[in-house]
Amino acid sequence: MNVTRQDFLRLSGLTFLSLAARRLAEAVLPTRWGMAIDTAKCLGEAHCGQCIAACHQVHNVPDLPDPRHQIRWIWKDSFAHVFEEQIDEYSPLRAAPAMVLCNHCDNPPCTRVCPTQATWKRADGIVEMDYHRCIGCRYCIAACPYGSRSFNWQNPRPYIRQPNPEFPTRTKGVVEKCNFCSERLAAGKQPACVEACPEKALVFGNLADPQSPLRQLLASRRHMLRKPELGTRPQVFYIL
Ligand code: SF4
Repeated sequence: MNVTRQDFLRLSGLTFLSLAARRLAEAVLPTRWGMAIDTAKCLGEAHCGQCIAACHQVHNVPDLPDPRHQIRWIWKDSFAHVFEEQIDEYSPLRAAPAMVLCNHCDNPPCTRVCPTQATWKRADGIVEMDYHRCIGCRYCIAACPYGSRSFNWQNPRPYIRQPNPEFPTRTKGVVEKCNFCSERLAAGKQPACVEACPEKALVFGNLADPQSPLRQLLASRRHMLRKPELGTRPQVFYIL
């Protein structure tokens, strides 16, 4: 096929315009980060905990010997406990494990009670922490209805197995929790747990984009939220 100079210029122009239109759409589209956990995939043979290991390594989460002082960013709990109002006593799911993390609630009660603004909701929906501003009052822990926050009762630094020099460590008297890997998102990466899951059971993306794989998944599959009756509007969805 012969392509004339005019054809070439016209095609290049069209390609440029469509790329520019896509970039413009991406620039004006708001971002609202969210996550879906495909419980069937997660419950398979590979209910392995690789997401926990990856998250806790990347974020310098200590492995403390006293279970009462445990620090948790993402962990396993039973369906019966996680969905206590929704799972009845005869459900086969009762004893099954479910992954749990901060829900990055759209209406987060934890941020409202912090006296030093050490925790706040960002424009992209991530409920963030500034460890230096935290005075350890633990009001946020009391306000979170999901137990998503942990308190450092002791110096966590000696208990970090493989320190990651690229992420800050915390001190005694500071609260911490999952940050949806805001530092990795800023570098164009997916959250560590999502990347580590061998079953691709965790889907992370932009809830504000109707074309995102996350929105497509939520549109096509039934899902549950934790304690929806509280009006906190969790942004972590459990696919059934
Ligand atoms: Fe705050 Fe708890 Fe909601 Fe996370 S799950 S945003 S800590 S209320």
